[in-house]
Amino acid sequence: MRKKIIAANWKMHMTQSESEAFITTFLREIGDLDEVEIVIVPPFTAIPKVTELLTQTQNIKVGAQNMHWERSGAFTGEISPAMLRELFVRYVVLGHSERRALFGETDEIVNRKVRAAHVEQLRPIVCVGETLEQREKGNVEKILARQLRGSLADVEAKELHETVIAYEPIWAIGTGKTASSGQAQEAHAFIRQTLREMSDDATAEKIRIQYGGSVKPDNARELMSQPDIDGALVGGASLDPRSFAQIVQAGAPNEGL
Ligand code: PEP
Repeated sequence: MRKKIIAANWKMHMTQSESEAFITTFLREIGDLDEVEIVIVPPFTAIPKVTELLTQTQNIKVGAQNMHWERSGAFTGEISPAMLRELFVRYVVLGHSERRALFGETDEIVNRKVRAAHVEQLRPIVCVGETLEQREKGNVEKILARQLRGSLADVEAKELHETVIAYEPIWAIGTGKTASSGQAQEAHAFIRQTLREMSDDATAEKIRIQYGGSVKPDNARELMSQPDIDGALVGGASLDPRSFAQIVQAGAPNEGL
């Protein structure tokens, strides 16, 4: 049984003081819920504050939104895996469609980062997903297979166990358009089948696959009740502590019964 994992991708939002207000309210809203693994992914500058506020909680981890693949060096403006590790970061989002589209990240670059993350015991959340045009041309599977095989090349099975995949159809990110639960499940089943071909049955069954793309409190439960949807990567709705708490609760339907 895969434990659901729900992550808040704050993107370039939230100062340290705003983060503090968010975490205070969020902790009050979710109480001692531990059925779901929660990851808060702040901008780099808010990571130390968020980590400090979460020291008493077991179930909420801190993630980063990106990193470089080298340990150190002349890469002005970049942050290394070792630097994140020192801040107690456990997860790192890699290959987000905004990084691919706005900052030129290719599958090869994402792959270097994924392998570097594992060296530093950071768990990558690897984002894949198609554009609307690719979907309309019937190329969803081709695109997903290419992104998975490229981004995860030479990643060993034991590292794949520690990897999370986020299926994020680009046409659904920040647009208010969500994939239907059927469309999302179909893509997730294909992703799991591709992971099976790349590794083995046991590994593919273990890997958690999040859905991302306009997840909100009112669609989260339906999406996460699909057999291959193991959580959510949430952008816009994760900026409000109450709505993010409701999404987390939707992923833990048995909590409190
Ligand atoms: C995201 O940025 O990963 C995302 C899914 O954003 P939103 O929830 O706003 O669509």
